Amino acid sequence: MNEKIYSQIRDIKKYALENKVPIMTDAGIDYLTRFVANHQIKNILEVGTAIGYSAIMMALSNPNVKITTIERDQERYMEAIKNIKKFDLENRITLIFNDALDVELDDTYDLIFLDAAKGQNIHFFEKFERRLTGNGTIITDNMEFHGLVGQNEQDMSRNLRGLVRKIREYHDFLEKNEKYDVKFLSIGDGLAIAERKEL
Ligand code: SAH
Ligand code: MG
Repeated sequence: MNEKIYSQIRDIKKYALENKVPIMTDAGIDYLTRFVANHQIKNILEVGTAIGYSAIMMALSNPNVKITTIERDQERYMEAIKNIKKFDLENRITLIFNDALDVELDDTYDLIFLDAAKGQNIHFFEKFERRLTGNGTIITDNMEFHGLVGQNEQDMSRNLRGLVRKIREYHDFLEKNEKYDVKFLSIGDGLAIAERKEL
C-alpha cells in the first residue's frame, strides 16, 4: 500500500476514535483481512458498515472481492459513502442504507461478516445464512464484548446483563449448530468463525 492510502486509513481511524465509532481493532481487522486475502472469496456481505473501515480494508486486501454492506445509521452511512469514494472503491463496495433485518438480497456470498447489533446475531445469522454459498463462512465480531461475556453478571446494569446474555446465547447457538464447524478466537473483541460443512 502506498503512503496516500496509509494516510487515508489513519484519517478514518482518527474519525472513528473522535466520534466513538466502534470499528474493528487492529488485531481483529488483521485477522479478517488475512482471511479475505487467503481464501477464494468473490462476494462478501457485511452487516454493520459504520463508516466503511472494515469494508475498505477487506476490499484492499483482495482485488477480486466485491462487498455488499448494510448500515442503518444515516450519519455513518453518509460518512461511509465519502470514505469509499476516497479509495475509488465504489465499483467494488455496494452500500445499503437500511435495517439489515428489512433487507432482502438475491445474491449469494462466500463470506458473511456480522458486525452490527450484538443482541441480534441469531436473527442476522438465520436470515442471511440462506444467502451463503455452499461451504462459505460466517464470521461474527464482538463475541467477548470487552471481556464482559466471561464476567460475573452481578456487577452489571440490567441492560448490559441482557446484552451479555444474548451474546452467550448466540455463542451456544453456534456451538450447537451441526451444520457448521465453529471456532472462537480471542482476537480483537472476540471472533467466531463458522464454516459451513459441505452441503
Ligand atoms: N464493521 C465496522 C464497524 C461496525 S459498528 C468496522 O469495523 O469498520 C456496528 C454498526 O452496525 C453501527 O454503525 C450500527 O449503526 C450498525 N447496525 C447495528 N444494528 C444494525 C442493523 N440491524 N442494521 C443495520 N446496521 C446496524
Ligand atoms: Mg465489531
